[in-house]
Amino acid sequence: MPPKSIVVGAGIAGLSAAVLLARTAPNHSIEVWEASEDPGGLLAPISFHGIPCDRGSHRVHPNADPLLLELTQREEWQAMPRRGKLVLNQRHIGYPLRLFPFLKGLGPSTVLQMGLGFLFRPTALSQFLQWEEDRSTIQEHDEGFEQFVVERVGQAAYQQFYRPYVEKVWGLPPSQISRTVAKQRVSTSSPWQTVLASFRHDKAKSSPSHFLYPKKGMASLIDRFRLMAEELGVTFRYGQRFALSDLSSLQGSSVFYSGHLTDCVPDTSLSHRGLYLLHLAFPDGSIRDDDTYYTPESRYWFGRVSQLEKFSPELSVPGKQILCVEIPEGQWGPKHDFVPQLETIRLQLQHAGILQNNAPIEDCRQTFLPRVYPMYRRGWLQQWRQAIEHLKSYRNFYPIGRQGLFLHCNMDHCVRISHDAVQSYQRDRDSVRWLESLERYLDLRVRD
Ligand SMILES: Cc1cc2nc3c(=O)[nH]c(=O)nc-3n(C[C@H](O)[C@H](O)[C@H](O)COP(=O)(O)OP(=O)(O)OC[C@H]3O[C@@H](n4cnc5c(N)ncnc54)[C@H](O)[C@@H]3O)c2cc1C
Repeated sequence: MPPKSIVVGAGIAGLSAAVLLARTAPNHSIEVWEASEDPGGLLAPISFHGIPCDRGSHRVHPNADPLLLELTQREEWQAMPRRGKLVLNQRHIGYPLRLFPFLKGLGPSTVLQMGLGFLFRPTALSQFLQWEEDRSTIQEHDEGFEQFVVERVGQAAYQQFYRPYVEKVWGLPPSQISRTVAKQRVSTSSPWQTVLASFRHDKAKSSPSHFLYPKKGMASLIDRFRLMAEELGVTFRYGQRFALSDLSSLQGSSVFYSGHLTDCVPDTSLSHRGLYLLHLAFPDGSIRDDDTYYTPESRYWFGRVSQLEKFSPELSVPGKQILCVEIPEGQWGPKHDFVPQLETIRLQLQHAGILQNNAPIEDCRQTFLPRVYPMYRRGWLQQWRQAIEHLKSYRNFYPIGRQGLFLHCNMDHCVRISHDAVQSYQRDRDSVRWLESLERYLDLRVRD
């Protein structure tokens, strides 16, 4: 009997693992088990007005890991101009942020308050210089989001931006959230480098003026991977949910698992939060010309709003403009119905200057994505380590992907992790070695 591998999950992590495994081990029998009836996971399309809409704003950063682009080079990747806006006090500030436009957009009184807050923050200069060297997310001491941010940027900036944003997104007081969130999502680990980059040529590298997007949408990447896998002899079983109890009947097989880590570990306090997506149709001419709006203020229920036709003109709907409004689960819980509250959302979009007139919402589709963001509460690292330790008792079990590793990461990261897992399997045939190497991925930084 040829060796057999089961790949759990047909998101980008599972599909890329199946392709890479099939390429490097042609005699291997590979099955993909996917719990739902379709492949794609977070990249599965949501059909709205006949177009395959992404699950929220998805794009590829030009500095992304090149393996994703290499594997999908037959896709028509387009370089699209970045036209993002940060909405603060009803002002639109270009995003990604550049220092001087950012300060100008804030206005003199906010800049003054933040400048004073920064000067009088509770830290010494020597510590400030130390942070410049500190790149790692992993630290045993977790002072929490609030203290981490206040020490770096001061009270005024914390109160104005970070606190409301974190409360909206996580639905928890920032003191309960881990420093990991600040480290991964707030570019304050190296403030001096950030300021310097604003003056240097490399600012284009850190804040590129374009992004990459497949002409036919992110779902086309999933089709591409699925086709490649099928051509290499991989078989697919949809509607097939894997459970750890299956391992006893799969003896001798290796399992590459891209489902949730938390489903494999009893009694863990690791948890997630979800995200509501509202796809809204407006008459043509209602929405401004930007691709994405970032709205951290608590007066708006949504944290991000994007316009798919600005990602690829092929994904436009004649006579309509389609917005994807992302509302964090936060305090809403997983069962909220926003449809009766569409008028409030429409007024908020108008207040934020995203909707430029009184145009009505002509159509809406709500989708809830459960468990999309790992909840990094203070002390999560110990729980994570215990979970990984627990997996060592299973033979040939390779967790991969965003869910398998409990990561907040990008899709190119998922492909790289699958590549590394397949290599580790080919080299050692010992998943304990793989599990022992996983901590390095906790330092991955999500790119927006
Ligand atoms: C709103 C949003 C915006 C994002 N924007 C970007 C972006 O701009 N750029 C970027 O690079 N990344 C972005 N990401 C991240 C990116 O979507 C993910 O990193 C990536 O899609 C995760 O892929 P995955 O295969 O690891 O997980 P998933 O896509 O979640 O796939 C896991 C699959 O496993 C299946 N499964 C789970 N459990 C089982 C089981 N027990 N048995 C069988 N099957 C199971 C699930 O059904 C699912 O199909 C974004 C994510 C979100 C939520």
